[in-house]
Amino acid sequence: MSIIELYTEEEVKFREEVREWVHKNIEPIADQVEKTDRYPREVFHELGKRGYIGSLFPPEYGGTGKGLVYDTIIGEELGKVCASIDMSRNGHILSNIPLIRFGSHELNSKYLRSMARGEKIGALCITEKNVGSDAAGMETTAKKDGNFYNINGEKRFITNGSQADYLTVFAITDPSVHAHIGMSTFIVEADTPGVEVIEDFELMGMRGCRNSHLKFTNVKVPKENLVGKENHGFIQLMDELDTERIVVTAACLGTAERALEIAAGYSAERVQFGKPIKNFEGVNFKIADMAVKIHASRLMLLRTARMIDRGIRVSKESAMTKLYLSEAAFEVSNMALQILGGIGYTKKYPLERFVRDLRIAMIGAGSSEIMRFLIQREVYKELLEKS
Ligand SMILES: Cc1cc2nc3c(=O)[nH]c(=O)nc-3n(C[C@H](O)[C@H](O)[C@H](O)COP(=O)(O)OP(=O)(O)OC[C@H]3O[C@@H](n4cnc5c(N)ncnc54)[C@H](O)[C@@H]3O)c2cc1C
Repeated sequence: MSIIELYTEEEVKFREEVREWVHKNIEPIADQVEKTDRYPREVFHELGKRGYIGSLFPPEYGGTGKGLVYDTIIGEELGKVCASIDMSRNGHILSNIPLIRFGSHELNSKYLRSMARGEKIGALCITEKNVGSDAAGMETTAKKDGNFYNINGEKRFITNGSQADYLTVFAITDPSVHAHIGMSTFIVEADTPGVEVIEDFELMGMRGCRNSHLKFTNVKVPKENLVGKENHGFIQLMDELDTERIVVTAACLGTAERALEIAAGYSAERVQFGKPIKNFEGVNFKIADMAVKIHASRLMLLRTARMIDRGIRVSKESAMTKLYLSEAAFEVSNMALQILGGIGYTKKYPLERFVRDLRIAMIGAGSSEIMRFLIQREVYKELLEKS
């Protein structure tokens, strides 16, 4: 599909530049990342130096300020080659969103530049052992004590958790009220006494990306490290999640595109019953379905990203985009694997990795069930309020 008509000339040029960089720098290490379950930390520095972390960071704090559409271009190109590096990049970028949108000039000056440059790594800490989908049920607390807050609790499944320098931690500051008005956001330096890594999880996919269980025991955080106002954390969290759902699905699109390319190429060459398998409808109808899903995915992703860049509130569109893209990309990769038959199930091709990598997209950043819940709530509100 030609995508030129959907993007500006500048965006198309930017994509070519990113694609070339990814081809030269990430493609050669993708297998090693998968095998060793690690990526070299210098990758982060390089991403930062090239401005591939800073699209959402204001230029004042070391970013490019190019916006979310540009970030989705980077995510898509990385997703074609190594989705796990993009997942680490995303966890890092997203940990900065509350700061970028709500942080004081002092706090932003202290933390954002080194994060935009990829010299420091960030992690976003929302999920807990007893609290996943129901973030408002959060149990981690931050109690004010003079010039400090004392943080206690645990955070689970944290992307970049054990390798992060700075942790963006959501915690309850007023347990006497609902979390909507009793939650706050803090920047916690990971070497603060009381911050502990309980374990790094071994994941089904996204190998190379660190995922950790962290514990906070009487962690003293200076009151200056409160992001925005006390008890405004839930608003910040909802704002972050609308952006997160777009940031994380860009790589899904890239992975799905690569899966389609591989399947189309293979089906043209593989001969069974005396002809290339692409001549069988059981195969080529799958190619058609895959192309349609990819086309629809791009339109949704691009539209929602442009809306966010224009400052429009997009909770419903963001949830719809995340739901559709995560499921579509998984289906596309699974169909591609099917087209390759037995060889698709081996590590000779990256399709088995694509299927494993993409599975998380239906769980992280709010599961498919939670996306459907959010969408139906908005639809009913719109339709019933109108009538
Ligand atoms: C690889 C990975 C990376 C992650 N990165 C981060 C990160 O960087 N930071 C962070 O804070 N978190 C992160 N997470 C956590 C992720 O966001 C949660 O796993 C996710 O929100 C689901 O929470 P849960 O696992 O506790 O599942 P639960 O909330 O316990 O849900 C279990 C099941 O019940 C379903 N369910 C729950 N409530 C409802 C409902 N009301 N209606 C219908 N179905 C429902 C869910 O859809 C799911 O299928 C990550 C997770 C993984 C696996």
